[in-house]
Amino acid sequence: MTSDQSWKEKYFHELESVKHREERWKIERNALERMLVCISLASEGQTQELDRLLARVRSDLLKNSVDVTIWEDLQAQIDRQVAQLDAAAPRTSRNRSEPSTGTATEVENRQRLLIARRVGHLIGQLLSQVSLEAEAETHARNLQRSLLTSDSWEELREGLNQVADLVIAAVTRGQREFESFLKRLDERLEALKQHFSVQSSAQTGRQAAAEALEREIREEIELVSRHIEASDDLQELKDSVGRHLEGIGMVVSRFQAQESEREKALSQELAAMREKVALMEAYSGQMQGQVRKERERAMTDQLTQLPNREAWRERMAFELNRWQRYQYPLTLSILDIDLFKRVNDSYGHKAGDKVLQVVAREIKKRVRTTDFAARFGGEEFVVLFPETLPDEAHAVLDKIRAHVSALPFHFGGERLTITFSGGLAGFGPDDTEEMVFNRADRALYLAKDSGRNCIKVG
Ligand code: GH3
Ligand code: MG
Ligand code: MG
Repeated sequence: MTSDQSWKEKYFHELESVKHREERWKIERNALERMLVCISLASEGQTQELDRLLARVRSDLLKNSVDVTIWEDLQAQIDRQVAQLDAAAPRTSRNRSEPSTGTATEVENRQRLLIARRVGHLIGQLLSQVSLEAEAETHARNLQRSLLTSDSWEELREGLNQVADLVIAAVTRGQREFESFLKRLDERLEALKQHFSVQSSAQTGRQAAAEALEREIREEIELVSRHIEASDDLQELKDSVGRHLEGIGMVVSRFQAQESEREKALSQELAAMREKVALMEAYSGQMQGQVRKERERAMTDQLTQLPNREAWRERMAFELNRWQRYQYPLTLSILDIDLFKRVNDSYGHKAGDKVLQVVAREIKKRVRTTDFAARFGGEEFVVLFPETLPDEAHAVLDKIRAHVSALPFHFGGERLTITFSGGLAGFGPDDTEEMVFNRADRALYLAKDSGRNCIKVG
């Protein structure tokens, strides 16, 4: 019985130990299952295919029974996915020299690496938003590169230490830029003020408006400056600057509106004034024209359109003055239509007028433009010959006389011959106008006495 006993004991003992092993194995399996679920969840989100495979693993684990061949295939697929991920990921994201699972220090180092990468990305963002000085920019780029690519913890730690300096540099630079912006703004306002003070000295109201504008802007800027001194919060500073700039913008546009109103009013005034000036110019032009016409009228004989006695007097004075100064030859002549009374008496006053007009026209036509012919009165004409000796003038007058005497006048069906007689005299030393006129007049009488239709020199 002892051997039976011992065999039984042995059997029960064995049974007990198998049971015990089974329980332990169950506990271990549970632990492994939980671990597998955790790892599969942690690995999710890499690729859709991997997610699908991991979900399959989790659902199979719930079934409590695993088809080994299917799981071998599943494992092969997951391996392929991981291999693809490894190939796609930058080499730096996974340190191949170290095992993927490791000690607590290794896990800690991986955490640090993740932080360094994250900071590297943040520096990239910072650089895209803030402009740094060239040197700081290069430094920041190098820092970013080492944080994103390096696996050396020493290097990363040094890099992270430098990040603080970089952020301070960026913020300081931002503030410096802001201060220089304010300075520039201030300079522009000063220039604006100078411009206004020069421009507006003649314009009341404008000066006051410019001063008000400058004062309002200055107040806004002072508020901004005070805010900068008081605040450390960059975002708040940005908001405050934004608000004040908006305020300045409103003040400036209000001023511009007033200014354009003022300019509009000024340009309207100017346009009205221009119109008035143009009207006055036109009016004065008209007046001048009228005065000239009146004067011409006053100096012209209306019947013959020759200069009249008044015009003669003026021209005579002018030529006499020149003669006295330059002593050039000057000849004066008097012409008188012969027996004119008979024309009037025989053919009427109108016929007489016609004769006067024709003779006047012939005289005017046949003297030089520098000569001066006028109707002296009645049927008498005078002609002044500047720079002409009496003999030369005599020749000219004689031609006119011959021409007039040949003109075919017809009155009342009868042909009529019209003639005139003339006397002329040249100006000599110590002569007065009266003396020369009298000599010419005497020569005219002489011509009349000599049978008319001739010219005599006195
Ligand atoms: P003589 O040859 O001596 O000069 O004779 P005359 O008839 O020309 O001289 P007189 O002085 O006697 O006559 C001048 C006339 O001229 C008198 C006047 O009626 C006329 N007469 C003067 N002015 C005008 C005028 O404007 N129109 C007309 N139709 N006749 C005028
Ligand atoms: Mg006469
Ligand atoms: Mg006469």
